[in-house]
Amino acid sequence: MKNLSRCRERCVYCGADKNLTVDHVPPKLLLTRPYPVNLVTVPACFPCNQSFQKDDEYMRTLLCIDVRASKNTAAQSNLPAVLRSLQRPNARGFVEYLASQTNLSAILDQHGSPMGQVIEVDNTRVNRAGQRFVRALYFAETQTPLPVGALVRVGAKMDLRPKDAGTIPIARALKTLPDWRNGSVGTAFSYVTAIGPEFSFWFMLLYDFFFWLGTVDCRAGSRSV
Ligand SMILES: [Zn+2]
Repeated sequence: MKNLSRCRERCVYCGADKNLTVDHVPPKLLLTRPYPVNLVTVPACFPCNQSFQKDDEYMRTLLCIDVRASKNTAAQSNLPAVLRSLQRPNARGFVEYLASQTNLSAILDQHGSPMGQVIEVDNTRVNRAGQRFVRALYFAETQTPLPVGALVRVGAKMDLRPKDAGTIPIARALKTLPDWRNGSVGTAFSYVTAIGPEFSFWFMLLYDFFFWLGTVDCRAGSRSV
């Protein structure tokens, strides 16, 4: 984080105009060095920026240890750091938290043993991260902050497939909006968006397997920042 001296900028998340810092989306913690040249940065106040750290660490751990991230170079470069951080004494609480989210899979292999463990995703955390990414990317794409009161709905999903329920209606809805854009940050993250005057749709993909689908409704309770 570094301080911004530019005036008239506001936090893209809460609208505050004091204690502004630079927030990266996706956060640098999820990327790998050397960092891509096209990092997405937005103004964010210090309290908002600080409040993201636990969610970022949670997502990095959850996603980098997932076998589906094994082909993604950014995720794989982060894996040693993730494993090291889990061994730190002060990571104990976090490890216990992750363990508490873990259930034996009901699927058995040919020998009758459970096929490893699956970690239940903390949807509150990953959806909060997705909402933050949408707000940041909206600003990056339009140079306008979303109204603080805009309704940002986000759902996270692993391994989205074209036949999954919900995919076709979303694809149809996307077609109704003419302003398509897409972007990527290194190999870790990419997104597609269709932006209309009141609505926008967002597909975001992290580490080649973790999706967020997002919709933004600027009409609902919107007030300008
Ligand atoms: Zn803020």
